[in-house]
Amino acid sequence: MSATDTCLFCRIVRREIPATIVWENAHALAFRDIKPESPTHLLVVPKRHVGSLNDATDAQLLGELLLAAREIAEGEGIAQSGYRTVVNTGRDAGQTVFHLHVHVLGGRHMKWPPG
Ligand code: AMP
Ligand code: ZN
Repeated sequence: MSATDTCLFCRIVRREIPATIVWENAHALAFRDIKPESPTHLLVVPKRHVGSLNDATDAQLLGELLLAAREIAEGEGIAQSGYRTVVNTGRDAGQTVFHLHVHVLGGRHMKWPPG
């Protein structure tokens, strides 16, 4: 059994687990976070399994994820009001799902620094 068999986000990519998918292209998929922390909260994931930013080697893929985040923010109507993109990496950052994902958060004013 490989990591991708049981990985939650790989399973969403394969449509084995339901999710509200809002955007996709050949390399990435975006869906609504199941426990939104802001009025708009989406996750952008690579379709190929990458455990975290620590495991990422493909600069083009990383760039595509960020450009996807911008496109999604535009589609959600928060590009002008503002949005936050977050990549939690590892324990101290609070990463809970070990398939690389970019959070796209918006629709309310956010504080800085994050907790
Ligand atoms: P992180 O803490 O950065 O690893 O973020 C993982 C995110 O995945 C959290 O915001 C969770 O609410 C979200 N999440 C967990 N399970 C699901 C799911 N089945 N569908 C959509 N989002 C999920
Ligand atoms: Zn995965």
